[in-house]
Amino acid sequence: MEGNSCDVLITNGTVVIPKVGTFQKHILIENGKIKDLRKSIDSIQASKKIDANQKYVLPGVIDPHVHYGVYTPINEAAKTESRSAAVGGVTTMVRMLRLYESYRNIGKHLTASKGNHHIDYAIHASILTPDQLKDIPYLKNIGISSVKVYMNLGSDLRHISMDLDPGTYDITDGEVNMTDEFLVSIINEASKVDSTVLLHAENPVVCSERISKRKVQEIQNGPATTAKLKTWCDCRPPSSEAESIIKVTKFASNICSKLYFVHIGSTVALNTILTEKQKRPSSLSIETCPHYLTHTADFDNITGKVVPPLRSKRDIQNIWSALQNGNIDTIGTDHVANRLSMKIGHGDLWTALAGFPGIATMLPVLLSKGVNEDRMSIERVSEVTSYNTAKIFGMYPKKGTIQQGSDADLIIVDLDLEQKVTPEILQSYSDYTIYDGWRMRGWPILTMVRGEVIMQNGLVNNDTLGHGAFVARPTTTDDKLYEQLQ
Ligand SMILES: [Zn+2]
Repeated sequence: MEGNSCDVLITNGTVVIPKVGTFQKHILIENGKIKDLRKSIDSIQASKKIDANQKYVLPGVIDPHVHYGVYTPINEAAKTESRSAAVGGVTTMVRMLRLYESYRNIGKHLTASKGNHHIDYAIHASILTPDQLKDIPYLKNIGISSVKVYMNLGSDLRHISMDLDPGTYDITDGEVNMTDEFLVSIINEASKVDSTVLLHAENPVVCSERISKRKVQEIQNGPATTAKLKTWCDCRPPSSEAESIIKVTKFASNICSKLYFVHIGSTVALNTILTEKQKRPSSLSIETCPHYLTHTADFDNITGKVVPPLRSKRDIQNIWSALQNGNIDTIGTDHVANRLSMKIGHGDLWTALAGFPGIATMLPVLLSKGVNEDRMSIERVSEVTSYNTAKIFGMYPKKGTIQQGSDADLIIVDLDLEQKVTPEILQSYSDYTIYDGWRMRGWPILTMVRGEVIMQNGLVNNDTLGHGAFVARPTTTDDKLYEQLQ
C-alpha cells in the first residue's frame, strides 16, 4: 500500500504546471517532495489533507531580487522578510548580497541566515571591488552561481550601502567605480565557471550630470521648483539604460556568457535588449519588477523613489505586454526592507532613499491587475514567477514546477479573494507600502515550502521559523549531495 499513502494530500485543486498545462489533480506529498499527481484519491491515506477546491495550485514564487540585511542585520531581516515573503506566496527568495570585503568571509552571513528563514533562500553576490574577482570561482563552489554588477556606479555616483555585518547596525558605505575594464573582467571570470552575470544597466556619467544640473537649478530658482518623482525620472533617462545595455552586450559578445538584466521598466531599455538578443543568440534574460506595472512617474509620493525610476503609462502597457508575450522572462521585486522614517530622508527627493518593500505584493499585483483584468494568463504567471526563474538560476527541476520528485513548494491561490492592502497585513519590517489602500483581488491563501505549511489565510506559522534552507545552485535532485551542501 506504500504507493497509496503520503504525508500531505492537496485535493481538488486546479493545478498549474508551467509549460505543461492546467489540470484537475490531487497532489501527493511525501518527505517534502511531490510524490505523485493523481486523478482519483480513492484509497489514498494521508496524514494531512488540504482542500483546494475552486482554487489554483501553483509552484511557489521564486523572488530573484531581494535586498534584506542592509538596514537590519540578516539574522533579523531573514525573520521579518521571509515572513512577508510567505504572505505573498514566495517560497524561495534570492538575496542581493553586497559585501565590501572578500566573499571568503561570507560564512558569517550563511550562519546568521540559517535558522532564521521561514522559506528557502539563495544568494547573488555583488562584485564591487577588483579584489573580489578571485572570489567568483569560490562562490560557485559554495552554490552561489550568480554575480551582480552595478554598471550605474561610477563618476559622482559611487557610494552604495553595504549589507550589515550580522548582529550589527553600523551602516557602512562603499565606493564602487565600475570601469569598462572591471566590467569585462567580471564577465570573463563569471563565464569561466558558468556563473550568470546580473546587470544593473545605467550610465552613471549621464545620471550624475543631470542630477547636479537639476540641483543647481533648484538652488537658483528656490523651493517652488522642488523636485518630484518626475524629476527623478528625467535625471535617470531610459537612454542611459540603453547605452549601458549596448555597451555590455558588445563587451560580452566574444565571451560565452549568461547575462541577466535586472529591473527593466522602460520600453527603450526593453527594446534595446531585444534588438541585441537578435544579433547574438547567446543567453540574455530580462527581469521586470511589479512597480513598473502599476506606478508611473506621476505618482506624487516620495516613497516611489526607485532606481531605475518609475516611467510612463505607455511604458506600463508595454511591460505588461512583454510579460505576457514572453519577451520578459522573469519578475523580481527589488524589495528593500526599510522603514518610512529612513526612506524619506529629509523629506526631499535628493535625500530620500531609493527602493521600497514589495515582496508580499508581487503575486497579488499579477493576479489582481494581470489575471483578473485579462492582461495575463495564470499559466504565464507561473512561468515568470517560478519556472523561468528556476531555470535561469539553476534551481530547476527541484524548484519551479510541480512534478514527481520536485520540492513541494506550492501555493494555493484564491482569485476571488479581495483584500485592502495595508503595511500590517504584509508583515514586513517595512511600515509602508506604495500599494497602501489598494484593493487587490487575487491572493495566495496558503504557502507551502517542502511540504510544510508556512502561511495559511494570511497567518504565518511561527513554528516554521528556521524551516527555510539555503539553496545551493545549480541544485541537484540528489538528496545526499544536497544535504552535503547544507
Ligand atoms: Zn536591486
